[in-house]
Amino acid sequence: MSLKFLAVGECMVEMAPTADGTYAMGFAGDTLNTAWYARKCLPANWSVGYYTAVGRDQVSEEMLGFLKGSGIDTASVHKRDDRTVGLYMIQLKDGERSFAYWRSHSAARCLASDRAHLDSALAGTGLAYFSGITLAILPAADRVVFLDALRAARGRGARIAFDPNLRPRLWENAETMRACVTQAAGLCDLVMPSFDDEMTHFGDSTPEVSVDRYLAAGAGMVVVKNGPADVICAGREGRQSFQPEPVTGIVDTTAAGDSFNAGFLAEYLTSGDIAASVGAGARLAGRVICNRGALVDCLEPA
Ligand code: ADP
Repeated sequence: MSLKFLAVGECMVEMAPTADGTYAMGFAGDTLNTAWYARKCLPANWSVGYYTAVGRDQVSEEMLGFLKGSGIDTASVHKRDDRTVGLYMIQLKDGERSFAYWRSHSAARCLASDRAHLDSALAGTGLAYFSGITLAILPAADRVVFLDALRAARGRGARIAFDPNLRPRLWENAETMRACVTQAAGLCDLVMPSFDDEMTHFGDSTPEVSVDRYLAAGAGMVVVKNGPADVICAGREGRQSFQPEPVTGIVDTTAAGDSFNAGFLAEYLTSGDIAASVGAGARLAGRVICNRGALVDCLEPA
């Protein structure tokens, strides 16, 4: 297998409030979080890349600089003259966070507008990772192109991993979201949903129902996360449940699922051992949620 991990999706500028009443600029996004943690977890002989579309302006260059500085390969990123990156702002009121987004015209929405570019980004990939958010932001016609490019990459030997990350507000309607996510799951080796989302948006009564639904859609293996409850892994080799280690001192559950996916995939790609992969994912997520923010340098023993 080629030792190239490629995450595909949207990275946004994050403006987060600081104690002195100003805002600090950072970069964030679900698939970026997974790439960032994958870089920390995978051995040095693996490359970790991020594929998206950005502008040619200064803030886009700063985003690429951030990715490169994190050890993430950005060589295949699609650059456009006519767009720039999306942005969101976090606001605090009485300790509660709210988010305002400027992303409806972001460059990332064009990441599948050029099939040849997409194919060359996917060339030689060992594992391609994307999410329901990656799909949601694309124009409907580009979703077809994107899934077809993934199917072709899989035909050339890439494995495909997918977190449905259901966000109905990003989709034209919930029915389209469910249909596209189900179709996408059918071409994946690994589908990695969070039960909370699946229960809310597919009406699943138990994680077993989510497993059965994605296996029936054609997924090779399904890994259902469920907060502190058992992780269920099911595929050709049968079905297993694993209890994550209890975690105390949780302060912020942002990126729990994204970091779990990275820890799981890094172990799975190197050892192929499912129990060890769940252990690695849960250990990493357990450390991430004991710290504030999405990107936490926490690979050393907590
Ligand atoms: P998401 O962030 O996508 O909603 P989950 O909440 O299901 O994902 O959490 C992903 C993983 O993070 C879980 O499988 C578990 O390993 C870990 N995790 C999350 N919340 C807790 C918790 N309260 N206690 C222990 N582990 C947790």
